[in-house]
Amino acid sequence: MGVVDYTLAKRALLRQFRRGLLSKGDICDAHPELLRAARYLGAEAKHACPVCKQHDLRLLAYVYADALKANSGRAFKVPEAMALAAGQAGGACYVVEVCTSCSWNHLTEAFMARTAV
Ligand SMILES: [Zn+2]
Repeated sequence: MGVVDYTLAKRALLRQFRRGLLSKGDICDAHPELLRAARYLGAEAKHACPVCKQHDLRLLAYVYADALKANSGRAFKVPEAMALAAGQAGGACYVVEVCTSCSWNHLTEAFMARTAV
């Protein structure tokens, strides 16, 4: 699958926060639904939350593909989401990190299934 890494965008956002250009409320704005999904489906991230430094950072993924119909746009555990997206033409899997402590959330990586030419 093709991969897009969002580390640079994430670092830029965190830099703005540390410089006081963004408030904690601006960047720690996870929707209650996202926090719930993170608690139930999220795998513990290897690193601590970049904002509050707590080890409550979870990784989960959203899958988008036309053929998935109702399941398109649903949250999944990362390995499940990857397998699902890889099996769909035009499928995409977006991995998100969510802190269940301070509500920080950011896209970390996107995987795009390669479509047959
Ligand atoms: Zn946090």
